[in-house]
Amino acid sequence: MEFPICSFDLRTGVLCPKCERKLQTGEITETDIAVMRILSELEKNLPPLSLTTYVKSIRYDSNLFVLFKDGDLNKLNPNQQAALRKRLSEAIGLKVRLLENSRDPYAFIQRLLAPARIEAINKIWLPDQSEEIRVVLDDERLLKINPEAVAYVAGAVKGLKVRLGFRRRFSRARSKIH
Ligand SMILES: [Zn+2]
Repeated sequence: MEFPICSFDLRTGVLCPKCERKLQTGEITETDIAVMRILSELEKNLPPLSLTTYVKSIRYDSNLFVLFKDGDLNKLNPNQQAALRKRLSEAIGLKVRLLENSRDPYAFIQRLLAPARIEAINKIWLPDQSEEIRVVLDDERLLKINPEAVAYVAGAVKGLKVRLGFRRRFSRARSKIH
């Protein structure tokens, strides 16, 4: 597996000056180092993992979003991805989601929101000249991720401002009335 720090440093647990600088400047975090250590262990029992490149991990509450290079998750079949997610979650004590750092920002958002289906996605210019991506989802019930986590991860990984809307909303109050 390819990592943003030397594999030698990962094995010894001591960072060389070049990798230490990456940690000091925030290019990598202590969380990244912990995740990379676990991944390099798991790689021994999950050979296709060695064909992938680790990008970074983003933590939001008790969730950890682990990013791989664009196209790399296809190197693991769905069972292998599930096994990796489970073992990584157990080892790190957080709920792990595997993601790809898709070059296409819309593809990234789509994967982040899956299994919810996107009905419309538009780029809006705000009065302060910044951009916002407005996403309308078909069915709120399919959204398995906290909307605040979506906004946080999209901002941290892609520098995007994302706002979600729903075509169909289902509230408990409404279902009681009908
Ligand atoms: Zn190093």
